[in-house]
Amino acid sequence: MVKTLCISTTDTTTRQTLDWLSQSVIKCKRIVLITGAGISCSSGIPDFRSSDGLYNLVKQQHPDVVTKGRDLFDASLFRDPTSTAVFYTFISQLKHSVDRAAPSATHLFIKTLDSKHKLLRSYTQNIDGLEERAGLVGSSCWEAGTYGKERLQIRMKDVKSVELHGSIHRVRCALCSANFPCTEQHLDKFEKGVPPPCPECSSRSEARIARSARRLTIGTLRPAVVLYNEPHPLGDDIGAIQSSDISRRPDMLIIMGTSLKVHGLKLLVKDFAKAVHELGSPNTAQALSTLSDRQKKPNKSSGMVILVNKTPPSGEWEGIIDYHVAGETDKWVEKVMEKWRSIKPSDFERQTTLNHAGLFSPSTELKAVKEVIRVNRKTAGKPVLLLSLPLYVSLLIC
Ligand SMILES: [Zn+2]
Repeated sequence: MVKTLCISTTDTTTRQTLDWLSQSVIKCKRIVLITGAGISCSSGIPDFRSSDGLYNLVKQQHPDVVTKGRDLFDASLFRDPTSTAVFYTFISQLKHSVDRAAPSATHLFIKTLDSKHKLLRSYTQNIDGLEERAGLVGSSCWEAGTYGKERLQIRMKDVKSVELHGSIHRVRCALCSANFPCTEQHLDKFEKGVPPPCPECSSRSEARIARSARRLTIGTLRPAVVLYNEPHPLGDDIGAIQSSDISRRPDMLIIMGTSLKVHGLKLLVKDFAKAVHELGSPNTAQALSTLSDRQKKPNKSSGMVILVNKTPPSGEWEGIIDYHVAGETDKWVEKVMEKWRSIKPSDFERQTTLNHAGLFSPSTELKAVKEVIRVNRKTAGKPVLLLSLPLYVSLLIC
């Protein structure tokens, strides 16, 4: 049975269980995260499926084209020039909103898990790229790929955030699949409902014309997001990453900000939940009885599947999800971070050196660095060596 825990509860037993979950996160070392739109709400990205979101605006402008939110993200829209134009306009508006957004506490938490070597991988349904802005290398980013003759291939070891539905920050050619960053010029075209021509196709065609050969068809650029009912261009690579992650025996699965309605995502969650439970499902009764004795610590912290979402999971998830934390993801990660800092403050200590301007600046390097600071003093009319020893200050990062 999925046990629901309300994040703002005053019930002592529920709070103890929430504390135990936080401690379990801190102990785990190979955590898989699966996230959805709920983690970006507090970043200021409009929920385009809500009544006052961008989707409603588009629906008002084109009531005959868009009947429900999912229409805007279904591959069938490309069958009709009008719905295609509406999609391009919608994406350009959404991209401008995304560019103004900043990562949420939840995005930063995922980055912290990575920095502390606890994150096996993050998988997201979101196309906003905020994980990348928080410092995680995303599967759509240029640095994560090797560009062969045929197609882009993801370098598995470098990618920490797998973007299951692509990225709004990139465009790709509908004909040759060449992939580019999405620029203001692209957005200007999309805003007008017109796709820009592909520079890769154009240059190949021009080269042929220059040698008096037949010109080639030039493809158009589309947002590099993956729509419903179309395959992911990097699907094989993502499948390989998933298999690799399962073989590495993840010790916790955390699902955040998604109501788990998309078929592909359901399969992903079930596969990872199975792998996580192979380590042994948590024994709630044992955990709670252990918590009643403050002198002891729960001896089972891994093998757990946690869903953090405002709405509860359906009955389909019985035996797959162990705990449902009901509430906002930012609030939950703040609780986890608070517990983490209180029980392992050493994880958040950072060495700091005094720089030339006399300011303290953090240094991520643990090796000793001898810093010589010259300070201009009027003494003897010339600069004197004031300090030649490293000056370290440990600060707790808030
Ligand atoms: Zn092309």
